[in-house]
Amino acid sequence: MALSPMMQQYLDTKQQYADAMLLFRVGDFYELFFEDAELVSRELELTLTRKDCGLSKPAPMCGVPYHAVDTYVAKLIEKGYKVAICDQMEDPALAKGLVERAVTRVITPGTAVESVMLDERRASYIMAILVQRDRAGAAFCDVSTGEFFLYQFDDAKNRLRDELSRVEPRELLVCDREYFAPYSAQIPMLTPLPEERFHYAQAGKALLEHFHVQKLSELNVDHCRLGVCAAGALLSYLLETQKNALRHILTLKIYQPNRYMALDAIARNALELTASLRGRGRKGSLLWLMDKTVTAMGSRMLRSWIEQPLVLPDEICARQDAVGFFLDDPFRRDTLREALEPVRDVERLLSRIAYDSISPRDCLALRYSLETLPLLAQALSGDVPARVGELRAQLAPLPEVTDLLRRSISEKAGITLKDGDIIADGYSAELDELRAARTEGAQWLSDLEAREREQTGIKNLKVGFNRVFGYYIEVTKSFYDLVPSMRYIRKQTLSSAERFITEELKELEKKILGAEDRATRLEYQLFLGVREYLGAHIVELARVAHALKELDALLSLAQCAADYHYVRPTFNQEGVYEIQNGRHPVVEQAIGSDNFVPNDTHMSDEGRMMVITGPNMAGKSTYMRQVALIVLLAHIGSFVPADSANVSITDRIFTRIGASDDLYGGQSTFMVEMSELAAILRHATARSLLILDEIGRGTSTFDGLSIAWAAVEHIADKKKCGARTLFATHYHELSELEGHLEGVVNYRITAVEKGNDVIFLRKIVPGGADRSFGVAVAGLAGLPKSLLMRARQIMARLEVDDETSAIGQSILDPRKNGGDRQLNLNDFQPMELVEEIRGIDVMSMSPIDALNTLFTLVEKARRI
Ligand code: ADP
Repeated sequence: MALSPMMQQYLDTKQQYADAMLLFRVGDFYELFFEDAELVSRELELTLTRKDCGLSKPAPMCGVPYHAVDTYVAKLIEKGYKVAICDQMEDPALAKGLVERAVTRVITPGTAVESVMLDERRASYIMAILVQRDRAGAAFCDVSTGEFFLYQFDDAKNRLRDELSRVEPRELLVCDREYFAPYSAQIPMLTPLPEERFHYAQAGKALLEHFHVQKLSELNVDHCRLGVCAAGALLSYLLETQKNALRHILTLKIYQPNRYMALDAIARNALELTASLRGRGRKGSLLWLMDKTVTAMGSRMLRSWIEQPLVLPDEICARQDAVGFFLDDPFRRDTLREALEPVRDVERLLSRIAYDSISPRDCLALRYSLETLPLLAQALSGDVPARVGELRAQLAPLPEVTDLLRRSISEKAGITLKDGDIIADGYSAELDELRAARTEGAQWLSDLEAREREQTGIKNLKVGFNRVFGYYIEVTKSFYDLVPSMRYIRKQTLSSAERFITEELKELEKKILGAEDRATRLEYQLFLGVREYLGAHIVELARVAHALKELDALLSLAQCAADYHYVRPTFNQEGVYEIQNGRHPVVEQAIGSDNFVPNDTHMSDEGRMMVITGPNMAGKSTYMRQVALIVLLAHIGSFVPADSANVSITDRIFTRIGASDDLYGGQSTFMVEMSELAAILRHATARSLLILDEIGRGTSTFDGLSIAWAAVEHIADKKKCGARTLFATHYHELSELEGHLEGVVNYRITAVEKGNDVIFLRKIVPGGADRSFGVAVAGLAGLPKSLLMRARQIMARLEVDDETSAIGQSILDPRKNGGDRQLNLNDFQPMELVEEIRGIDVMSMSPIDALNTLFTLVEKARRI
């Protein structure tokens, strides 16, 4: 027995795409066969059927309707599969023998461009990395928008994790799979490529061919050798999977890490830039607060700004000027934001133009977006800051493209080409004529109906249409005897009626259906023309898209500054941070700005390390994050929540906050804390800002204190680090360092005790704290009264010994030896003893039990 020709075709194709689920177009369905069918029917809960394939056993099969294929592919991608789409390359009705088929695209997590597979508010990158010794070349591309970058970096081992967390690729291309195994948690899909793809010669050739240039120097990337290797490999993979639909990848830019503030994954998470720590959702994050963009593109732009603050003062200033300009002119701001409302995701429409998959509905979206350009130009007129002027130039209306779209695409156009009614009336005279035939046809038919009724006397005679039989005259049973049998030819018998055709009706049918058929074909041709026209204007459209999203992001920053009362920060290069009445942007909005207590910050060379003490819950970590967020916002060009702010240009912000158990990496809390600290100390410079919360907490008191102490000494030392640092600690002993160590200044966040309660004042003031209010705070948290009473007793005893405060002194002054103190809390148990006596049920005890119990109690009492 032999396979049927179609199944042979299927297997040949499948062999070439063995690692993908092959969706094979058969008529109106994409079918899967054999193992693919079994697997996909399970994953997507599709019905598994069988198809005769020529062999003795039928082939397992399942399928999805072609018009819903995106949704199914999205689910498969989500589950980590690759999908190859095999289409019919000719009209099956016209094919002689087996229909020609070919794979038109391979979709992977990194190459998906369909909107159901994308989050409209974030970029979707595919990345390639090549590591050689300790150097790495990298390239990343968002296929849905055409953005394409390359770069290289040293210290690959230490930086890979951060680079992956910054780009967050949905798919990573590598030549050495093993090397990347430790990073698998950060990579949804790891795709190995043959090594040759990363070879400079081959990679360079791929780039030259795509960008139509002779030499790499024309792309200004010749000095970035490893980056070229990665970019070429990435491009070769895109060509292979996207089958040449890469027209929208227009530029290759070098990503310049030194243009941006370095933020590692830890800082990004701890500062809740784009996701909150709780629940990991967008809500509660800085992005969530600041995102007042109108378009999805603008939202993506703002996200990338927040993830990559600038460090070059000129670039920051240019953004600030634009934000300030829009802040000061609310009328202009409102007009512009309103004008942006009809703007759709033009940037992602570019990829659909390149893929020839732009739908008539997309064309309408593009038209509405472009129609707003003259409005924007008008609202941007006059004397404007430099960056706004540049945007205005880039947003110059595209009257010809807009006009073509307006004239060609009907406002009733649907998503698919099959729906018809794509092309607007008046665009093509020929089409209008054919359409007229269609409308006139309706008139002809109703005339014919009226005539036949009259001639035959059949009052309810009807002319109708059905797809199989075409046009017919329908006569119900009771009138059969009136049917003129000479003229009427029987076509179909129903239970209650008969359907007939006449010569005249046949003629009409030919005319009408012919016109319809030709109209549909013509519409399709005309639409392809529009598509082609758009393809030829992709460069201008990309320029507009880019300017639109930047404008939207700038307006969003201005709107936030207006709504939340932010001010424009100034900058210095001297390591000075002067913030008057700073606020935490997110907490302030969460609890209401009237409830938020603002705080100042002064840091400079003389006071470069703030050692901050204060009870738990006082607001230490809120304060420290607030400083970091104000500095970060300032660097993205935003205004900041304060009465005034002067911040130093900062190369990195580091954080070490709370216990972030790296359970996946299998490290203990303490180990995580120490390795994070080690990384900070390795990279922090005098121009960095460090937020350190409770260093040393993960181990025993003395160990922890010693490490915290040594860390303060190390960081404060200008020869070793000298970074500006906010250091919150519960070790009050560290307050001793002020005056002994240059640059260290004590602060505390105030609270007062009222009875057994504590009232938080949330104000930061100079000086060290003497009380920790821990018991009072524990009370607020609802610990049992008896436990709290007991805690107060223990504390009272400890305070009598008052050895704790002596520890600090003894480190500073070795002559005063704090001693090797052992706290034996077994020594303090009066309450337990009372509880134990209360619990004794004397009546049920035997005399000997009673004696034994009494004996134990006396023993315990003697130890108190
Ligand atoms: P700590 O780090 O000292 O334990 P947190 O910074 O976590 O304290 O703050 C505890 C709570 O106090 C926060 O949830 C916040 O709602 C509130 N809080 C902190 N700072 C302020 C402030 N300046 N004004 C008003 N409420 C604040």
